[in-house]
Amino acid sequence: VGDAAVAPEQKTTRPVVIETSLPTARDNVAPLAFDGKLETFFRSDRAPNSEDRFTLAVAKPVKVKRVEVLTGRPDGADAPTTGVLEAGVLEASPDGQKFDQVATFESGIAKADLGGREIKALRIRPTRDGTTQLAIREIVLDSQPPAPVFKYPIEVHLDASEVPEMKDWCERSKEIVEEWYPIMAEYLGEEGYTPPCRINLTFRKDMKGIAGTSRANITCGAGWFKAHPDDYGAIVHEAIHVVQNYRSRGNPGWLVEGIADYVRWFMYEPPEKHPRIRSDRVDRIKYTDSYQTTAAFFAWLVQAYDKDLVKKLNKACRKGEYKPGLFREFTGKDLDTLFEEFKQSLRKK
Ligand SMILES: [Zn+2]
Repeated sequence: VGDAAVAPEQKTTRPVVIETSLPTARDNVAPLAFDGKLETFFRSDRAPNSEDRFTLAVAKPVKVKRVEVLTGRPDGADAPTTGVLEAGVLEASPDGQKFDQVATFESGIAKADLGGREIKALRIRPTRDGTTQLAIREIVLDSQPPAPVFKYPIEVHLDASEVPEMKDWCERSKEIVEEWYPIMAEYLGEEGYTPPCRINLTFRKDMKGIAGTSRANITCGAGWFKAHPDDYGAIVHEAIHVVQNYRSRGNPGWLVEGIADYVRWFMYEPPEKHPRIRSDRVDRIKYTDSYQTTAAFFAWLVQAYDKDLVKKLNKACRKGEYKPGLFREFTGKDLDTLFEEFKQSLRKK
């Protein structure tokens, strides 16, 4: 659907992945170490030890000219909370398996000139036990082609402890959310708005229903997903609520759900799964039906009237400024007229 269509390459794996043995402190998630900003940083929830690793891997190897890793909090907090890596090395790998040392950390900084070497992964390795939580401000990578920094850093913290038999399925759902969140954030994002960067994704054994979201906490009923293992899209829908993050209580529920389901069905799901309204149901549908009906209505509006309509509605919801009159403002027609036209278009099919 117009602008919402996602290029096929975005459906593949993420271009850059960070893996670490270090637990994250609060919202100081690992991708903040590679977001192009020196003010934001990854912070570990404990002091690093010589067994720990912090690895950045690119999907396709890049030729690295220079790399610089800066540790220590940008606010220059006093010891013992400076977050500087006290002793460690920077390593590089052509294949993500075998690493060699390319620099030593001095005063918390490691710099290496790699002369265009092909690199698949870079790894920060402490060489002795630290005394303070580690802060990694930025991995500054000068390469050809450039490795894209995380514009929308996201880390999903999975708790599937109640359903160990579903561990692999739950891990996959975490990966899907981490892969799709930046795409959805790009679509529903705007200047000056930073979506949450940490999602807690919990599977509950005894929860009835499918899933629910409060702020950045997604809770899923394990029973539903055990019975519907192809329904990753339901978790994507919840992750869209995290991107929406509307603080206003004045937004109608059908609109909030309609936007979430529009993005889910028309961006994430493949075309053959797009919602279709059966002709014998047309007389009974309402735009307030939410979910697939409202999503299909929005998809039609996007094609017939305004490719940015959903983005504009999202913006209004985020500001708490939604009013039904906006439909007239955006399309020249009121909501009831538009919905009648939509129904008419379904009857013609
Ligand atoms: Zn919902």
